[in-house]
Amino acid sequence: MSYGIKSPARYVQGSGELANLGRNVKRMGEKFLVLCSANNKKRVGDAIEESLKSVEKDVVFCLFNGECSKAEISRVMDVVTENGCDVIIGVGGGKVIDTAKAVATNLGGYPIVIIPTVASNDSPCSGVAVIYNDEGVVIKALMMKRNPDLVLVDTDVIAKSPRRLLVAGMGDALATWFEARACKNSGAKTMARGQCSNTALMMSRLCYDILIRDGAKALEALEAKASNDALDNVVEACIYLSGVGFESGGLAAAHAINDGFAYVPQAHGMYHGEKVAFGTLTQLVLEHAPEDEKNEVLSFMKQVGLPMTLADLGITEVKEEEIRKVAEAACVPTQSTKNLRKDITPDEVYAAIMEADQIGRAFKA
Ligand SMILES: [Zn+2]
Repeated sequence: MSYGIKSPARYVQGSGELANLGRNVKRMGEKFLVLCSANNKKRVGDAIEESLKSVEKDVVFCLFNGECSKAEISRVMDVVTENGCDVIIGVGGGKVIDTAKAVATNLGGYPIVIIPTVASNDSPCSGVAVIYNDEGVVIKALMMKRNPDLVLVDTDVIAKSPRRLLVAGMGDALATWFEARACKNSGAKTMARGQCSNTALMMSRLCYDILIRDGAKALEALEAKASNDALDNVVEACIYLSGVGFESGGLAAAHAINDGFAYVPQAHGMYHGEKVAFGTLTQLVLEHAPEDEKNEVLSFMKQVGLPMTLADLGITEVKEEEIRKVAEAACVPTQSTKNLRKDITPDEVYAAIMEADQIGRAFKA
């Protein structure tokens, strides 16, 4: 056995935490580049600037162009060097965060701070950035020199985020335990360059338990636009436990099947976590999971409104050749389905997707 565990150097989460940004980054540098969308600048720009100014730091805002592409990364790198910034802050969702990570890495490892404004996926704590081409197709996963120096989450900001995005985050986090467990059983290597440690496995399990216990209650906080204890727990599960859990615990079929759905145009409007949730259900079918376990997952999905069928993923017209493509893409050697079992075939994955759809439809009815 050899274990590897990766995590951000520091993780801070709480109500009103943005006000403490300055205190947390005081020793990182002097001039901060803040990468965010125009909308997030309006939402949290003043709070960020105020907090940094309170510890006498300079702030340069840079508005994100919408795609984490090579062109956008080099444009932001130029803004950093032209302005003499020495710390990068990425504020927003997955693509802004990944662009900020890529900029920091490509500049030779600048200090990097991540401030997620939504809890929609497990990217903030990880040391991976997903790069797209200008058409929005994934071209590679860039490994960072090190994981973020600080991930700071203000739960008041998350409480005001759209419901569908938090549900997607829960979908991404739902996979963490099952994928880590599969890697523990098979001895697969993780992105932290080791096998799944007991620590990562325990974190993944805690992530799952929190979702089952508090998932629905956390959504009430979003209705009220004010954080509650359940939201605190779910945010920790979606951003921290799921992030460290996937990177150090490992991925398996759920994420590979999500990637495969890129081949189905009807599913293009779906979020990562929504597809990962359906991928989780498919993985449970592949594993011949006990009925109780499948039912617990299905009830959770139904309760929070995660997609349980192909139709829920926007695939109202099911074409066999498209679903076979999903299965084939999930089984290429670079994909993580093999972490479940080395000899798994596209035919098995195809049949499991169709069975998951059938089980989901039956459960809903
Ligand atoms: Zn994910």
